[in-house]
Amino acid sequence: MIYADNAATTKMSDLALDTMFSIMKEGWGNPSSLYSHGQKAKEILEKAREDVAGLIGATPREIVFTSGGSEADNQAIRSAAEAGRAKGKMHIVSSAFEHHAVLHTLEALKKEGFKITLLDVHENGIVDPSEVMEAIRDDTCLVTIMYANNEIGTVQPIREIGAICRARKVLFHTDAVQAIGHIPVNVVDDNIDLLSASAHKFHGPKGTGFLYAKKGVKLTNLIEGGAQERGKRAGTENVPGIAAMAAALKESISSMPENAAHMAIMRDRLIRGLKQIPHSALNGDETKRLPGNVNFCFEGIEGESLLLLLDDKGICASSGSACTSGSLDPSHVLLAIGRVHDVAHGSLRLSIGEDVTEAEIDSIIRAVGEVVEYLRGFSPIWRDLMAGKKKFIL
Ligand SMILES: *Cc1c(COP(=O)(O)O)cnc(C)c1O
Repeated sequence: MIYADNAATTKMSDLALDTMFSIMKEGWGNPSSLYSHGQKAKEILEKAREDVAGLIGATPREIVFTSGGSEADNQAIRSAAEAGRAKGKMHIVSSAFEHHAVLHTLEALKKEGFKITLLDVHENGIVDPSEVMEAIRDDTCLVTIMYANNEIGTVQPIREIGAICRARKVLFHTDAVQAIGHIPVNVVDDNIDLLSASAHKFHGPKGTGFLYAKKGVKLTNLIEGGAQERGKRAGTENVPGIAAMAAALKESISSMPENAAHMAIMRDRLIRGLKQIPHSALNGDETKRLPGNVNFCFEGIEGESLLLLLDDKGICASSGSACTSGSLDPSHVLLAIGRVHDVAHGSLRLSIGEDVTEAEIDSIIRAVGEVVEYLRGFSPIWRDLMAGKKKFIL
């Protein structure tokens, strides 16, 4: 099997697995208990908090552990919105291609009376900082722009956007789920007030993540109950998951330079190979993208058929086409970069891992080429395109 869907989830590293298992076996106490077995769990928890904080340039008190990226996004946006509402500031700036954890939270706030501006991400899939500057109004309480897009991998000018928000005294949140552990992220250098991360995107366990909230940024609870996480997130902490997340993050960041360099070479080889397929196009900026992300559109085919046939060949990938996402419309990300429906339906995301080999890249290129040709062989759209009844877009 060639696993090329690391943007959906990653395999846990051996270190993360060992850490998790040993804590489940030995350190399973409740960190809120006063006896030493509980306090041992508390120590593990606080050591993980120190580690995670240190790895992104934060302090331990600025880290709240959550159940993952979605919860962190919800809490960050809700917190900024509540603080804004209290001051009569009910305008939020975001982008059209955010993750649904962000977009759906914004939609819910819109129903509560908030005004939302979604910025264009242009053909290259990059938010223009000058447009952020223009969109900020006197009543803006939050700007939320993702660090790197989960579908097309484009990396945003976060530092510049953060600097603009800081100058205008507007809170800045970034969904850094795809970035953390893959490219350098530092909350101080990048001028970030709120940041979301998820362990299972960097070889940690699913169901664990964190929210960074800069000192002085007030958080609103999503989950009420006990006083865990300094009263900001009730519920007995997932100590094994949190410790495994810290171990996975440390590991990912320490091997980032070699891993990213290797992946970028493999990514570019894959891009070059897939470009040879006629009537295809890369989605998103060619260089300002995550080292592991390749996303293409192939005219005249359906992404879901492509995925099923690739699965037959042992390749795990993903598509932004309709059926796979369980809705009628193709990916909002592909539409946001200006792909028309027909073209967006024929999309393929390959998110490679750190250990991908040149031979695997070449077999992906071969397999995709064969499957695209095969599917076009009985595609009515392709027949019309070839007969000149329809115009090629790509
Ligand atoms: C995966 C992902 C999320 C959701 O994280 P979960 O931990 O699965 O809830 C949010 N944002 C982005 C960009 C993601 O890729």
